[in-house]
Amino acid sequence: MKYIVILPAAGSGKRMKAGHNKLFLTLRDKPILVHTLEVFEQDPNCTGIWLAVKPDERETIQEMLRKFNITKVKGLPAGGDERQHSVYACVQAAGDESELMLVHDAARPFIEPSVIAELVEVATKSGAAIAGVKAKDTMKRVRNHIIEETVDREQLWMIQTPQAFRTDILTQAQQQAAQDGFLGTDESMLVERLGIAVHVVESTYDNVKMTTQEDLLIGEAILQKRQLEGK
Ligand code: C5P
Repeated sequence: MKYIVILPAAGSGKRMKAGHNKLFLTLRDKPILVHTLEVFEQDPNCTGIWLAVKPDERETIQEMLRKFNITKVKGLPAGGDERQHSVYACVQAAGDESELMLVHDAARPFIEPSVIAELVEVATKSGAAIAGVKAKDTMKRVRNHIIEETVDREQLWMIQTPQAFRTDILTQAQQQAAQDGFLGTDESMLVERLGIAVHVVESTYDNVKMTTQEDLLIGEAILQKRQLEGK
């Protein structure tokens, strides 16, 4: 099944303390953003990429696309103050270009193609599928530093992107959230509000979001591991 991907890339990345968009930081001489773009550039099922950008970074990013020969970007709409608004700008710009839309944080460069393939398959059948990994640590609900409850870890997943949806579902979810003034931390929250079942596909712990300086070290280590594995 063919799909398009929306990559929100309009964040300020304050927690990275880079002084500019963290997606421009390099891992092995390549910007984080380009690592992410290349995954979708190389997937034959991906027919188009929509990138939400800050207007004053659009030119720098277009230059990057040329330099690294990224050809599938169809639009670079202006992002909003919140990630959800950046994604919505892309949803609107892409319209009904494809029956299936993936949303993926531009700051997660290590997504495995096999996870994308499974998300596409499950979302094609069911309408909504998101990536996640099982919680590794013991999980407790804590209020004011006092434990209220130990939560059954078997039922807890740490949710990542990509999140894959039938285009009509994601569009309706975004419209409803905008109408209600609801702000979610991921697209799935918006779809859950419609009462639609969202499937979770098991992803990998490698699919980290480059958020703080330590993540860059983890990123370099993941690239080294992949090189040793011949990937
Ligand atoms: O800040 P964080 O890394 O959690 O953001 C996740 C992704 O969403 C990043 O790729 C970032 O560039 C993007 N984003 C956006 N518009 C915003 C905030 C974040 O496109 N207003």
